[in-house]
Amino acid sequence: MLEQLESTYTQALAELETITHSDALHDWERRYLGKKGAVTLALRATGQLPKDERAAFGKRANEIKNALADAFTGREEMIRQHELAQSLEEGEIDVTLPGRRVPTGGLHPATQTLRRIYAIWAEMGFQVYRSRDVEDDDTNFTLLNIPPHHPARDMWDTFHTTTPGVILRTHTSPGQIRAMHDYGENGTAPIRVILPGMCYRYEQLSARSEIQFNQVEGLAVGRHIHMTDLKGTIAEFARRMFGAEKRVRFRGSYFPFTEPSIEVDVECMICGGDGCPVCKYTGWVEIAGAGMVHPVVLQNGGYDPTEWSGFAFGMGPERMAMNVNGIKDIRYFWQNDLRFLEQF
Ligand SMILES: [Zn+2]
Repeated sequence: MLEQLESTYTQALAELETITHSDALHDWERRYLGKKGAVTLALRATGQLPKDERAAFGKRANEIKNALADAFTGREEMIRQHELAQSLEEGEIDVTLPGRRVPTGGLHPATQTLRRIYAIWAEMGFQVYRSRDVEDDDTNFTLLNIPPHHPARDMWDTFHTTTPGVILRTHTSPGQIRAMHDYGENGTAPIRVILPGMCYRYEQLSARSEIQFNQVEGLAVGRHIHMTDLKGTIAEFARRMFGAEKRVRFRGSYFPFTEPSIEVDVECMICGGDGCPVCKYTGWVEIAGAGMVHPVVLQNGGYDPTEWSGFAFGMGPERMAMNVNGIKDIRYFWQNDLRFLEQF
């Protein structure tokens, strides 16, 4: 048996010398050192030898196994170098190929729209004022002329916290009260701010309503501010945001914190007024709710409504982005689906 092993060893070494290709090399490894390779089988058969021969045979078989393994490693390295040199020579690596583009992030479509809105209002002299997301019931409702049990409260389904009277703001309008107190100098200074931020409503999710969305509130308070100022200011915003040729229209509406109240429509960006699914075939899309600040709200902000007046408006950046880009479902905005986000 030992003789047979030695001849296998000699044969294996001789064969290895002739191998120049990694496929053949791995075939060789399988035949001699693999699970059913000749050397492995010989080692396994040690137990069948007479007792006094076993030790010597086993020792020699292991030596041969290790020697072949070393020879294999050496040959493998040689072949690897050889094949690498060959592939370089054949020009398999084309260093002139353009590189792969590293994916880059981009601004969220809501952020892009918000920044456009900020820029336009900044040009028109409005500062950004950030108000809190977690509000008290009083500022969110009562001080905005929506007392407890007022039927207008049904317009908002509210997220309540575990602390009674502390809620997530349902709109950015409570920022009006805070801005008047922070900037109004006890009702003696004029104000021109926009109040952007996230709002929260406990609503059924649908293509048209989300439980969170951005709003941009606007507030101007001064001594001689009239409805015409509101109309002119909003129309100018719409021209800068959507294009000078776009027509704007105002419709009478109702909000508890403005009197009179209006809603503002602009000609549909998709069909240009001819009618399409985005504008529900009316040719118009709503861009804002607005109105003259209600005297009660001015009073709650520290102003004397017989001397001071103001206008306020609220617009939805996601709705605007939907109208401009023909996005059919508001839920896309917070799903973090790159297939959606990468389009902007
Ligand atoms: Zn349309």
